[in-house]
Amino acid sequence: MRSVERMIQTSFDIISIGYELLDGRVLNTNAKWLAEQISSLGGKVCRIVVVGDQVEEISSVIRDSFRRKIDWVITTGGLGPTYDDITLQGVAKAANRKLVLNRRALEMIKKKYLELFEKGLIDSPELTPHRIKMAMLPRGAEPLENEVGSAPGVLLKSGKTRIVCLPGVPSELENIFTKRVKPLLEKSMKKICTADRWLLIIGVPESTLAPKIDEVKTKFPQVYVKSHPKREEEKSIINLYMRALAKTPSKCHKTLNDVEKIIIRLVEELGGTISRPEGAPT
Ligand code: ATP
Ligand code: MG
Repeated sequence: MRSVERMIQTSFDIISIGYELLDGRVLNTNAKWLAEQISSLGGKVCRIVVVGDQVEEISSVIRDSFRRKIDWVITTGGLGPTYDDITLQGVAKAANRKLVLNRRALEMIKKKYLELFEKGLIDSPELTPHRIKMAMLPRGAEPLENEVGSAPGVLLKSGKTRIVCLPGVPSELENIFTKRVKPLLEKSMKKICTADRWLLIIGVPESTLAPKIDEVKTKFPQVYVKSHPKREEEKSIINLYMRALAKTPSKCHKTLNDVEKIIIRLVEELGGTISRPEGAPT
């Protein structure tokens, strides 16, 4: 079943590709960077998965995203000219498309190597098979210009899911995401609002409060509730965090008010005291 958050927020899977991530040579900073970007745009990252450079592995995780009806799948790595850069083969397989020469991608690559040649950085601007390989995209895909490297990013729609493929080199990934992907997300993502609130609960042990919080969560699935115990011994002190998701700020606040009323009643019934401190606890 899709969670309530998933119904309100646009959902994302991030799939990081490369054996260098699995054997510990490279830290997956791309996934962290993307997750921060997506969260700050109001999206929900459902999974971050790392797989090796293997077509079957890539297609199987992408098919899993399709099965879970994820809105956007973002892959990183494996778009380059070398033999192990096989991300697009995996994407093509998952989406049942053939890899075909994409004219626009080829133009981008041609322009890039001509620039590098004119700057004296490469010996020849010739479109070698390894360079042409980067223009072989799944049929129906759109290339996304890469201003800092040679392999274009890729955008492909398959059913309701959009797949974005970004290179592994962080500066290239960040350039394509910021310039080409972010504007698309800003236009198409579900607009959501969040509001949060803290409550300070004194005199009710966390284990006594836990089943009551479960009841509240069942009644208000659009509210995230998390208890942060500060002191367990003597008189227990708990900071309770609540975050509501809704289409408008007023709906968020109304929901938080409703939840707060219930929690105040519960705490008082349990013989504790409750207050709403200004801002987050330190
Ligand atoms: P290239 O055209 O350079 O081959 P690519 O899209 O094929 O780019 P990869 O070969 O997978 O990308 O990775 C290139 C480099 O980017 C890696 O050597 C690594 O240093 C870095 N890199 C790859 N994936 C990540 C990641 N998830 N987080 C941080 N750095 C990464
Ligand atoms: Mg590579």
